[in-house]
Amino acid sequence: MKLISTRNSGERIEASRATLQGIAPDGGLYVPVSFPDIGALGDIVGMHYAALCAKVLGLFFDDIKDLEALTQSAYRQFDDESVAPVKKIGAGEYVLELWHGPTLAFKDMALSVLPRLMTASMDKGRDILILVATSGDTGKAALEGFCDVERTKILVFYPDDGVSDMQRLQMVTQEGGNTHVVAVKGNFDDAQNGVKAIFTDSGFIKTINDKGYGLSSANSINFGRLAPQIAYYIWAYARLLTYGDISLGEKINFVVPTGNFGNILAAYYAKKMGLPVNKLICASNKNNVLADFFKKGEYSLKRAFYKTMSPSMDILISSNLERLLFELTDRDAAAVTDMMRRLKESGAYAIDGQAKKTLESDFYAGWCDESETMDSIKSTFEEKGYLLDTHTAVAAGVYGKYKKTGDTAKTVIVSTASPYKFPEDVLLSLGEDVSGMSIFDMAQKLSGITGTAVPAQIKALESMPVLHTRVVETGAMRDAVLRIL
Ligand SMILES: *Cc1c(COP(=O)(O)O)cnc(C)c1O
Repeated sequence: MKLISTRNSGERIEASRATLQGIAPDGGLYVPVSFPDIGALGDIVGMHYAALCAKVLGLFFDDIKDLEALTQSAYRQFDDESVAPVKKIGAGEYVLELWHGPTLAFKDMALSVLPRLMTASMDKGRDILILVATSGDTGKAALEGFCDVERTKILVFYPDDGVSDMQRLQMVTQEGGNTHVVAVKGNFDDAQNGVKAIFTDSGFIKTINDKGYGLSSANSINFGRLAPQIAYYIWAYARLLTYGDISLGEKINFVVPTGNFGNILAAYYAKKMGLPVNKLICASNKNNVLADFFKKGEYSLKRAFYKTMSPSMDILISSNLERLLFELTDRDAAAVTDMMRRLKESGAYAIDGQAKKTLESDFYAGWCDESETMDSIKSTFEEKGYLLDTHTAVAAGVYGKYKKTGDTAKTVIVSTASPYKFPEDVLLSLGEDVSGMSIFDMAQKLSGITGTAVPAQIKALESMPVLHTRVVETGAMRDAVLRIL
């Protein structure tokens, strides 16, 4: 299928090429020319996850052969046979666990597939250099996804003082002959700005090209990350059908802990493709720019930035919202371009009344502050015996608020990380004392409390050698790139 840019609907390019390219030359994001239909849902019931994902990918990547072999190898490394288990935790309430991949966060669902889509789309000429700036989860998932993938190299920049201990350890112990990890002195914005500057430096890109590499990105603006995420919404629906808990065509809700709007956008795409969805519930943490936008119809960056216990949602510029704006404006590329220009120049933009109405028919938005997030972890564990991580806890907390609207539709809470990935805040939420404990002691303690095993990936970290120790100033990021080529 062909894709178009949200800022210029004239030019069309194959989904496979768009995935190699990352972002459109006009700065827009690639979206499908139209939404394909997922077909009869009855046919999907009983399919294995990899087969279902291949079916969804095939609707977009019709020029890539043998997608099922591709998805099977992508999901083989997951530690749950079903890939993404759906668990019932209350009456009409379910959790979709998206963290059974190598890095224990939902980024694996797409980043296990993306490198394979890229290599299947590559031409004979150049190899690929993937550059990533990460606030924690994306970097590790991209490293795992691209580890030892032929004809690719990956370089991840992370802020020296901006990731959790667990996230840092996961990255600096990364194995693989083509993986590189460099700390940048500064915060996430510094690392991100440095990478963005490289992507728009045509002279430097030419230097990279001359060395035989094309530059690409593994961030969630890449369509090749969005497409695999559509599959798990359809999957969750099929699971509820299999359980006999819903009837064919019955509408359900999804609650999604949101940062860059990539995950929940995939749910919206699934709805556009025919999935019976009632409300998409967008859950934010204290960085509630999205909740404000949904309420007021104005997106404004004039606000404080908070560091929270759900760091992967600590975001002010929610990039994938641009794809939703494109739909809300009836695919008006000029209007989207104008809003993005306003955001850049004055830090805010607004949508009109009609667009806001459309928005409200599909979405509900809410947010939780830090103490509500902790309460959500504690009460869900005490009342339902289910332990949430700090991100999913935001979703569960917002769902609690949503329920007061009186809606009784069955609801799937999308769980984006294992609680073992954020052991300190999870234990503190449960009222436990963690003073003097290492993250491995904490993981052990969580295991005792929940009766679940410490994930092998975390146990292994304790004895893995640190392989990546380089720290650079932001001004030296280009040098770091050249060194690995
Ligand atoms: C990335 C991430 C999110 C936010 O997802 P978006 O697609 O950016 O909205 C939520 N939770 C966890 C654990 C994540 O890693």
